[in-house]
Amino acid sequence: LLNRLKDHSLVREEMLVGGTWQKEGTGAERIEVRNPSTLEILASLPSAGLDDVRVAIDVAKKAQKSWAARSGKDRASIMRKFYDFVVENADDLAVILTSEMGKPLAEARGEVAYGASYIEWFGEEAKRVYGDTIPGHHADKRLLVLKQPVGVVAAIAPWNFPSAMVARKVAPALASGCAIIFKPAAETPLSALALAILAERAGVPSGLFSVLPTRNARMFGAEVCSNPIVKKLTFTGSTEVGRILMAQGAQKIMKLSLELGGNAPFIVFDDADLDEAVEGAMLSKFRNAGQTCVCANRLYVQSGIYDKFVEKLASRVAGLKVSDGFDDGATIGPLINDEAVTKLYDHIEDAVSRGASVVVGGKRHESGGTFVQPTLLSGATKDMKVAREETFAPLAPVFKFGSVDEVIDLANDTEFGLAAYFYANDLRNVWKVTEALEYGMIGVNTGLISTEVAPFGGVKQSGFGREGSKYGMDDFLSMKYVCLGGI
Ligand code: ADP
Repeated sequence: LLNRLKDHSLVREEMLVGGTWQKEGTGAERIEVRNPSTLEILASLPSAGLDDVRVAIDVAKKAQKSWAARSGKDRASIMRKFYDFVVENADDLAVILTSEMGKPLAEARGEVAYGASYIEWFGEEAKRVYGDTIPGHHADKRLLVLKQPVGVVAAIAPWNFPSAMVARKVAPALASGCAIIFKPAAETPLSALALAILAERAGVPSGLFSVLPTRNARMFGAEVCSNPIVKKLTFTGSTEVGRILMAQGAQKIMKLSLELGGNAPFIVFDDADLDEAVEGAMLSKFRNAGQTCVCANRLYVQSGIYDKFVEKLASRVAGLKVSDGFDDGATIGPLINDEAVTKLYDHIEDAVSRGASVVVGGKRHESGGTFVQPTLLSGATKDMKVAREETFAPLAPVFKFGSVDEVIDLANDTEFGLAAYFYANDLRNVWKVTEALEYGMIGVNTGLISTEVAPFGGVKQSGFGREGSKYGMDDFLSMKYVCLGGI
């Protein structure tokens, strides 16, 4: 890993606890970070224990008070430096990301730039935390609404976007005047630590942003959900773990943002532009090897365009290049671990046993390890696992449908409600489907929807809270109504 970096100091085998870099944690074990492509051990990190988490929380409490007292402009100027450092070091950050997570280097670069855009955006927003004045209900009263930072925030993130997840959570927290204790996934802590190094260099005050990798995620969750100093938890991960955290947070009526699982439908109507729909499906389904929560999971194609769509998509899927993320032209890296591979083949076998046909792929990849063949299935039906569960792998199951109402019912027939996509040109149909889909985000005639300027988040069991946009700051602020009497 170090050979590929320009700045070796961006990889430290330490964790950042309340402003102190520590070589050892109070957790007994260590975290061996592996490259999922080569299985090479990249780093050996300490694993945070309960005492480390408590120290980070206590230090954050003090640091947060003075940070919140500074002007928005002051915070913005430090965040601008943080953003500039991320951009200047983007190549190294991308190398770290590809090394620990496996995605193709070009995608890693894209992720780093995307993450940086949140730091830039929220830094700018730091100056725009407006309150309100409300015309009073009595002649002698004046009413105001103040917005104040919630205080110390905890964050728990998954491994699929090791860099962007940090930026998406840390940027609004810092911009709004909060402190943040960040727990990366044990698979991918190096990107989070590298960003913490850059934040420190940019002048983010000591103790405000801790990064605590740990083998004991349960301990971390239980502590931040019960410690009275921590006022909010922002979590991205599975619905299952989100449910556990929500139950734990209920003890202290904790403020939560939960960005949980998805099961995105991707619908192609007969009047769609076929080439654009195929392009959108490729981006939405195969980016990050299908390991994103907004990935198209179910492709519904109307009967009139079905055969042509499957044929065109098949030639594109067959053209994907599966290889190590550092290889030229790689488009699909390894999956994160063996369980991911097992789940993929379980979904394929289940679908085939219920009547689906394999159009492309379907087998293990010759490179071995966690490399898999990108797979296209036709003839998928609603009784298959691919219809109900998030596959989180490069598998595109295509379902055939007849009418608009039928596909709306099929698309909404899931407990999830994160992202949905459709391709159509009839204006009335576009509007009808947009309104009918029970999802937090809709892509119409596009397979890519994520941007820092728009609100990212779900409904139903995909969670609540929004990341990015002018709304994203609200998750880190409390509203205080002030009634001034006797005027
Ligand atoms: P994924 O399938 O994407 O790994 P998880 O929900 O299992 O999703 O993990 C997302 C994050 O939640 C990771 O950082 C993981 O360590 C953490 N996590 C898992 N279980 C718990 C738990 N019981 N309490 C707190 N955090 C947890």
